[in-house]
Amino acid sequence: MSLNAPVAPLSFVRPVKATLSVAIFSLMLGLVGCNKAETPEQNADATTAGAETEAADTAPANSEHVVTAYSSHHEQSVKPLLDKFTEETGIKVELVTDKSGPLMARLKAEGKNTPADLLMTVDAGNLWQAADQGLLQPVSSSILDANVPAKYRDPEGHWTGLSLRARTIFYDPSKVSADQLSTYADLADPKWKGKLCLRTSKSVYNQSLVASMIEHLGEEKTEQVIRGWVANLATDVFSDDTNMLKAIAAGQCEVGLSNSYYYGRIVAKEPNFPVKIFWANQDTTGTHVNVSGAGVTAYSDNPEDALKVIEFLSSDKAQGLYASANKEYPVKQGIDESDLLKSWGKFRQDDIGVQKFGALQTKAIQLMDKAGYK
Ligand code: FE
Repeated sequence: MSLNAPVAPLSFVRPVKATLSVAIFSLMLGLVGCNKAETPEQNADATTAGAETEAADTAPANSEHVVTAYSSHHEQSVKPLLDKFTEETGIKVELVTDKSGPLMARLKAEGKNTPADLLMTVDAGNLWQAADQGLLQPVSSSILDANVPAKYRDPEGHWTGLSLRARTIFYDPSKVSADQLSTYADLADPKWKGKLCLRTSKSVYNQSLVASMIEHLGEEKTEQVIRGWVANLATDVFSDDTNMLKAIAAGQCEVGLSNSYYYGRIVAKEPNFPVKIFWANQDTTGTHVNVSGAGVTAYSDNPEDALKVIEFLSSDKAQGLYASANKEYPVKQGIDESDLLKSWGKFRQDDIGVQKFGALQTKAIQLMDKAGYK
């Protein structure tokens, strides 16, 4: 049921239409393009939802009211919402799902011939990379301005956060009490020697967390912390957060870092899962939060409808569902969280603008490498 999405052949594209509509829309919005290398992402399983569709070459832009979305979210978590959008607006959405890295590589390879109007992916680090590679176009929307706090959006409008995830500390309550825990940096203390489990530094989630630490603590102190983490590892780094959490449950380690929704997914199935959540840095900078989000592609031939999809996903109606389908937090203030999330208690979030994670990503990767974090 899952296929790797092939790169669209370049022969059946709409160069004139795409160029024209982009040119017109760019005049309205001021298209910014830049360039850079790509980034890996390792979150969602690669599932491809059907073949991409092509608008007829002769049709003027927007006449068919179809938006093609490239998404790194699981199809089952995002499709019901897109269906709801179609129901309300009559605008169809063709969904193509794959991991973030391949989707961005594909967008880059397709260039102005891409069928994609929308990129939906996780982590501000990835969204920033997509914008930096010139794959997204800036939009301005009073709806997004009202619904999404500025710290969760690109200041230039290339992408918008649509749900929130916290990356925080998890622990084995049979061996650790909450009052022994405090900050990310404290996990570098020798008292945790042989007790810490971590996911690989190749995860964009860890790159973003370390980027936030560089912003708060400076490079030198952050490097010391990473060296301390590495010295405290109970075992080799994990390829994903779920296995790291299971290692805590299995007694292999006592503390670790994970995104909140991976824990939520396990606990939803296994309410007695013997691991607890601890909100990091509550007395200092607040717990690290990141976004999943979306942006209109640079060469979309239907940017107006693509923006409507993003606006819809930021609305009251969609926010609760969009976030809870993935065990995430709504990005819009005042939306009710699910009972599961409420049971974890309120926490203070780090106030840092998430676009910083992208800007400091290269530095974070270099620093982790230097500190011996695999
Ligand atoms: Fe993830």
